[in-house]
Amino acid sequence: MLFGKKDQEESKYLDPIFGNPNEDADLPKYKLARKSMQADVAYRMVKDELEDEGNARQNLATFCQTYMEPEATQLMAETLEKNAIDKSEYPRTTEIENRCVNILADLWHAPKDGNYLGTSTVGSSEACMLGGLAMKFAWRKRAEKLGLDLNAHKPNLVISSSYQVCWEKFCTYWDIELREVPLDENDLSLNMDTVMDYVDEYTIGIVGIMGITYTGRYDNIKKLNDLVEEYNKHTDYKVYIHVDAASGGFYTPFVEPEIEWDFKLKNVVSINSSGHKYGLVYPGIGWVLWRDAKFVPQDLIFNVSYLGGEMPTMAINFSRSASQIIGQYYNFVRYGFDGYREIHQRTHEVAKYIIKEIKKTGRFKVVNGAQHLPILCYALKDDHAQEWNLYDLSDRLRMRGWQVPTYPMPDNLNNLIVQRIVCRADLGMNVAIEFIEDFKACLEELDHAHVLAHHSDEQKKTTYGFTH
Ligand SMILES: *Cc1c(COP(=O)(O)O)cnc(C)c1O
Repeated sequence: MLFGKKDQEESKYLDPIFGNPNEDADLPKYKLARKSMQADVAYRMVKDELEDEGNARQNLATFCQTYMEPEATQLMAETLEKNAIDKSEYPRTTEIENRCVNILADLWHAPKDGNYLGTSTVGSSEACMLGGLAMKFAWRKRAEKLGLDLNAHKPNLVISSSYQVCWEKFCTYWDIELREVPLDENDLSLNMDTVMDYVDEYTIGIVGIMGITYTGRYDNIKKLNDLVEEYNKHTDYKVYIHVDAASGGFYTPFVEPEIEWDFKLKNVVSINSSGHKYGLVYPGIGWVLWRDAKFVPQDLIFNVSYLGGEMPTMAINFSRSASQIIGQYYNFVRYGFDGYREIHQRTHEVAKYIIKEIKKTGRFKVVNGAQHLPILCYALKDDHAQEWNLYDLSDRLRMRGWQVPTYPMPDNLNNLIVQRIVCRADLGMNVAIEFIEDFKACLEELDHAHVLAHHSDEQKKTTYGFTH
């Protein structure tokens, strides 16, 4: 967020909190206080400042982890000072990052004889930036060799219209045309009949999504790979696939190993995922891997010193704490393959229970009932008689502490208003049962409430905050 002066107001009066004279102070908003204050008081005051935020565990909007084990939290707190970029001072941390990359390369079937490489990032957004940049630079090298006039058109990136906002950022920041393929109306994912119509000599790559933010569905990466294979047979201007597996990258390998979506497919050259989504680490950690070093142009690699020598790095940021990387490694050590699988399967069962109960109410049509990821997406039935809409239901649920977003689908389907629930590992069955009780109570309350009439046109224009 960007902050400015108008966002803040000095409080008009002060009320000492717990009787300590130190607490008789206004928290600084515009400039530093002249005097310092006791650590315990400062702690209490800042902590209290955060008191009325939503309860993260009841936030069914976010994909991000809201629980880690005490041992993990302790380990991460104890390693906060480690700077991830300082490979020379922290060689063991560097080794741990390296092990995580190797583990992911194995999970994502990077060719064993190939020269894969990868790095941790702050989240999938940074990972997508790096994946996108590598595509742009590699495309330019290939196109230059073939004699293409690089100035005649902007390079473009092809992706379905249900992309996550980081791809729009990538295209804006690096001056690339974002070519949106309207969603397949039946499948609500990348349209395999039309996607290749958007590709030309200026296409830096095609992005497939494993875990579409809007619905939790998957693009059909295997089919996309076949289409690309066929396309590349007939042109010198080869095109490749980056898979945005922000959610799926840490889910599919454990729960749905039969799905082909990763480096097993020849034209998938890079993959990103968020360690802080189904990787089960607190935010922010992400990963990006390439199937082979040849897809990462040297211009993008910067060397930092490492044990008297040099080590290649690729990152948008420089200094940041390594504690998230260490948290990721802790989870790998602690859970192993079976642990991740069991946790995700339990989460999936919870999701199935919730959607079954929602369906039973008879009011909703299911857009995605945890078909793959434990993500639920539903709309009101077309013939619903009630006066209220999904936005009202979101508000009502919020009164009981639950955050469940309502929003329109992208472009060609924006008449479809949906509500989404992201089930995470810390949403246990008992809590899910409580949620369903609240959900039903909210329906009951709305049915008997006096809901102000909605003007349908106005309603369409309203896009409620929805960013992830
Ligand atoms: C969440 C998400 C992102 C952005 O990831 P962050 O880790 O939050 O930066 C990108 N793409 C998809 C598909 C996502 O779901």
